[in-house]
Amino acid sequence: MDTSYPNTQLFINGHWKDAVAKKTIDVINPATESVIGQMAHARKEDLDEALEAANLSFQKWKNVNSFDRYKILRKAAEIIRQRSNEIARIMTIEHGKPIGESLAEVNLGADITDWLAEEARRAYGRLIPSRATDVYQMVVKEPVGPVAGFSPWNFPINQAVRKIGGAVAAGCSIIIKGPEETPASCAELVRAYADAGVPEGVINLVFGIPSEISEYLIPHPVIRKISFTGSTAVGKLLASMAGLHMKLVTMELGGHAPAIIFDDANVENAVQMIANNKYRNAGQVCVSPTRFLVHESLYEKFVEGFVKVSESQVVGDGLDPKTTMGPLAHDRRLDAMERFVSDAVDKGAKIKTGGKRKGNKGYFFEPTVLTDVPIDAKMMNEEPFGPVAPIAPFRSFDEVVEEANRLPYGLAAFAFTNSAKTAEKISASIESGIVSVNQPWMPVVEVPFGGIKDSGYGKELGTEGLEAYMQSKFITQKSSI
Ligand code: NAD
Repeated sequence: MDTSYPNTQLFINGHWKDAVAKKTIDVINPATESVIGQMAHARKEDLDEALEAANLSFQKWKNVNSFDRYKILRKAAEIIRQRSNEIARIMTIEHGKPIGESLAEVNLGADITDWLAEEARRAYGRLIPSRATDVYQMVVKEPVGPVAGFSPWNFPINQAVRKIGGAVAAGCSIIIKGPEETPASCAELVRAYADAGVPEGVINLVFGIPSEISEYLIPHPVIRKISFTGSTAVGKLLASMAGLHMKLVTMELGGHAPAIIFDDANVENAVQMIANNKYRNAGQVCVSPTRFLVHESLYEKFVEGFVKVSESQVVGDGLDPKTTMGPLAHDRRLDAMERFVSDAVDKGAKIKTGGKRKGNKGYFFEPTVLTDVPIDAKMMNEEPFGPVAPIAPFRSFDEVVEEANRLPYGLAAFAFTNSAKTAEKISASIESGIVSVNQPWMPVVEVPFGGIKDSGYGKELGTEGLEAYMQSKFITQKSSI
């Protein structure tokens, strides 16, 4: 397969350009650890250009009617589909995920663009009956203004498109700080929007030192809304900065999803679904199942099945069509996995399969199953964000709910049961933004996505995904004076 890889420039005011200071950052292929290209490294002067462009273009874009915005975005979706194979190839080279997963992600990027384009045509306000006969009371929706978006490396397109598509569809402009680990596929998304006719300045793409960019953009008076996807720790930092400056925020943060298998579940089906889901994107997914809680009567069977699925994963370069799990996206994740496992083992956990780095080139880590992991082990408390699966038994409904809700996170939760009553009870009891029963749920465009508690606030996708970039204005109008 073609292994060529493009360098990535900044996209500011409709032009692809190097950083003013000509600085660059290396990009590494996580399957080989070799440097494959460079991206431009934005500093303050580049951000100033982007801010000016976002400010000026917003004044025009907000007045483009929603039908015309819709037509441009639909065209962007078509362009993404036409280029999907090439974009997926680039994504796999820079990120490591299997080529089939990259292709699905690129196509989902097109679907999300379509959905947001359509929703923009239905950004209804409302008429509220007035107390006087000649007075109208209206609520209208307006775009919030220039947005600063921060999107991570785990889904280089799927995370960025929610922010870019939402903002552009609503009539906002956006400066997006793309993922430094995986810049080129995110840049291809922006290229597709630009080629479809999004006017210059409406989308600006920058890369650099994340804290330097957020500390400059968030307080800046031009920026009216912040949208961040990433870890809870960074999210709290950015949300507090935004709060100081009274900026609107959407925060899509970490999770630690319980996957609960009740005693009446079909254990063979459950293990197939949830174990394969665990290894999607090498577990680097905020809604990945991360604490497997299995009724004691099914425990042994479940562990045995999970180990089998884990050992059947084909770990390798994502460009190889046989690969089912690629490397971790960067070396920090590899270090983190080693730390999670050794901490658990030191505290008494048993490794049922995996547990270590695979090979010594590339950030590969073995699909790993652990039992007897004590509750104070790091991996039972911090988001693992990798291919490790701690499995623990439980006895009663109340006990498992207590464990599921123990952590400050509240993003996703999974449950398997053949009882409608248990399904209803567990959905109601779990503190989580998303509850999936009897299925290995993956995000789709029609439904809202987002967490509660330390997993953040605000939603992406669904009707809420557009709302996030709009604000309500109340207008009351008397027909004459
Ligand atoms: P990290 O906390 O250094 O970075 C996570 C993301 O936040 C990256 O995209 C990074 O560019 C960005 N970021 C970091 N500091 C920032 C700042 N001061 N201002 C603006 N953006 C900033 O961690 P990492 O090693 O890249 O990833 C590990 C952790 O991040 C994981 O454990 C996981 O919890 C979290 N994460 C979550 C998601 C998600 O989908 N919610 C995605 C990626 C990473």
